[in-house]
Amino acid sequence: VLLHSHGQHLLVNPGIVDSIVEKAGLQPTDTVLEVGPGTGNLTLKMLPRVARVIAIELDPRMVVELRKRVQGTEFERKLQIIHGDFMKVSLPFFDICVSNTPYQISSPLVFKLLEHRPLFRCAVLMFQREFAMRLVAKPGDELYCRLSANTQLLARVDHLLKVGKNNFRPPPKVESDVVRLEPRNPPPPINYVEWNGLIKLCFGRKNKTLGAIFRQSKILEMIQENYRTYCALHNVTVPTPAPDMREVVTNVLTSSEFIERRSSKLDTDDFLRLLAAFNEANIHFA
Ligand code: SAM
Repeated sequence: VLLHSHGQHLLVNPGIVDSIVEKAGLQPTDTVLEVGPGTGNLTLKMLPRVARVIAIELDPRMVVELRKRVQGTEFERKLQIIHGDFMKVSLPFFDICVSNTPYQISSPLVFKLLEHRPLFRCAVLMFQREFAMRLVAKPGDELYCRLSANTQLLARVDHLLKVGKNNFRPPPKVESDVVRLEPRNPPPPINYVEWNGLIKLCFGRKNKTLGAIFRQSKILEMIQENYRTYCALHNVTVPTPAPDMREVVTNVLTSSEFIERRSSKLDTDDFLRLLAAFNEANIHFA
């Protein structure tokens, strides 16, 4: 059987499974979402503790295996298996998500969860180490990046557990970690397309000063173009001569005191302030 094709590294150490279940803080009334239950090592430990588990599994062989495991038990009625691709399924309501995730969809999985409404209480997720470390990285850490800022905009992220590769069958090539995401509730009231646009520019060169990044003519041209679009859409008359974007941008960065700062050292509140300062000057990133 070609298990590797779907990233199927089954968690076989019951101690780690227990630890994940315990750290999830499951309540008897909870509906749990599990992504990629595989043969159900986590699923079967959760079923006795909660009201319901909804498991989304891509591989039909795993679906059959998992169904067999609960058949005729008291847990059969508590488990709903959705056979499909997590990225394509429309998600049901859930209180909490617990999963040894398929690593090949780590990033889209995080954002699909965080964009889901209504917001869930928390998610306890296993990822490969590098990805987990990027999720939790703080400004100034070497791994701090766009993923860190985007995730931390929407959630509190905590590291829970290191998991060595030998706890899996077959063992993956890399070590793993369990992290906890707790969505910010309410989420920050901003335009995410615009946030993304800004963050992409800022992390294009994360160790350069913002002053240097926003001096690049390509970026200034884009800002100029966005400015014209913005004015057209909002019935703002573009003054003649049109404002010199280099000047406008420099003024925003100077008065907000970001001009000498570097993205690698800015947290999500800093970026929110930066975005607000740009927007106030009619500078937009979407
Ligand atoms: N949770 C199990 C465990 O801990 O033993 C298995 C985890 S294994 C790392 C990932 C599981 O996700 C596999 O069962 C695989 O078939 C499934 N999977 C892979 N891609 C998927 C997708 N896009 N949607 C749903 N399940 C997926």
